[in-house]
Amino acid sequence: MKFSSRILNIKPSPTLEVTALANAMKAKGIDVIGFGSGEPDFDTPQSIKDAAVRAIESGKTKYTPAGGIAELKKAIVHKFKRDNALEYATSEVIVNNGGKHSFYNLMQVLLDPGEEVLIPAPYWVSYPDMVMLAGGTPIIIETSRDSGYKITPQQLQAAITKQTRAIVINSPSNPTGATYSRDELSALAEVLVQHDILLISDDIYESILYDGNAFVNIANLSEELKKRSVVLNGVSKAYSMTGWRIGYMAGDESLIKKIDILQSQSTSNPTSISQWASVEALMGDQRVIAEMVNAFDRRRRIIVNGLNEIPGFDCIMPPGAFYAFPDIDGVTRLPGWKSIVERYPGPYASSTLTSYLLEEARVAVVPGIAFGIDRNIRLSFATSDDNIIEGVSRMKEVVGRLI
Ligand SMILES: *Cc1c(COP(=O)(O)O)cnc(C)c1O
Repeated sequence: MKFSSRILNIKPSPTLEVTALANAMKAKGIDVIGFGSGEPDFDTPQSIKDAAVRAIESGKTKYTPAGGIAELKKAIVHKFKRDNALEYATSEVIVNNGGKHSFYNLMQVLLDPGEEVLIPAPYWVSYPDMVMLAGGTPIIIETSRDSGYKITPQQLQAAITKQTRAIVINSPSNPTGATYSRDELSALAEVLVQHDILLISDDIYESILYDGNAFVNIANLSEELKKRSVVLNGVSKAYSMTGWRIGYMAGDESLIKKIDILQSQSTSNPTSISQWASVEALMGDQRVIAEMVNAFDRRRRIIVNGLNEIPGFDCIMPPGAFYAFPDIDGVTRLPGWKSIVERYPGPYASSTLTSYLLEEARVAVVPGIAFGIDRNIRLSFATSDDNIIEGVSRMKEVVGRLI
């Protein structure tokens, strides 16, 4: 069969692939420890589940407006005001089928062929492919450990062309946890205001911040910047609701209207039941978030301290999100590395190490190359303390053989 060049140009989500591989091994009875999946391991809070049950029992099981029910739009407006000091009208917000769908829709209404979207690397695996699916060109701005995995105003200036339509800022970041301060965002904003570029702020990890750091996004800096911004968020990460598929965004009314049209001709409304559950998530007791963040904070210390004891690993303490992103360059300089490359050949060191860890240690991690950087691997620490301790000890044992 012939397929469109659109679909032939994109690759499956590497994080979902690693999870599927680990699950397939588990199904065969192999005891694999999974650090691949990017989702909280906690159950969805009971009050949110109860709201969904109430929605089912009261017959809220039919089509809703394509862009979401009025009650949820009001809850989103309330949330932006309460948590982010951002004022929006309900006509400036829309509900989508997950945050991934929000970004997908945004690309579809924004881009014509050849138009560019700036994506700082390491990036979330899906951004470049969603840009390409819309016919656009992802422009990757590379960062390193030295810059804290954050872009500088100089890099930004150098990357902007006449074709640039948007930039995506994901802070705290998946996969690095890097979090931009108010001053760093202001410095980027000085460059951005000189150009007509849409600022996309992917705030999905806003509540998963450690060490008492307060969240700030680029739309917070001025009314002018807010007008140029689209703020994207969702309930998946904050409320452990990945399976419910509710994301949302806020921005210019004319843009939101176009996304409403796209959604009305593609997916129609996000699930009615999930929408009612999300009203409860956003309006109900917010302490459920702090409880999860406390657990993540404890696990963050366990995993980072453990990873730094593995030969050749060098891991910073991430300031946000729930991923450890160790630099593994040192592993490639261990005496035994060459024999590993012979067994798992390929151009990418991070993939070679990932295969070795999966086969020998039965530990599933994601190669950094999936996020646009080959010097690292990503481990989600949204898993139990016991899994972390056991997984890290297995990795230490098999990497130790390379000394
Ligand atoms: C998880 C995630 C999302 C959205 O996930 P959904 O489940 O589709 O809402 C968006 N951006 C980043 C960076 C993520 O890691």
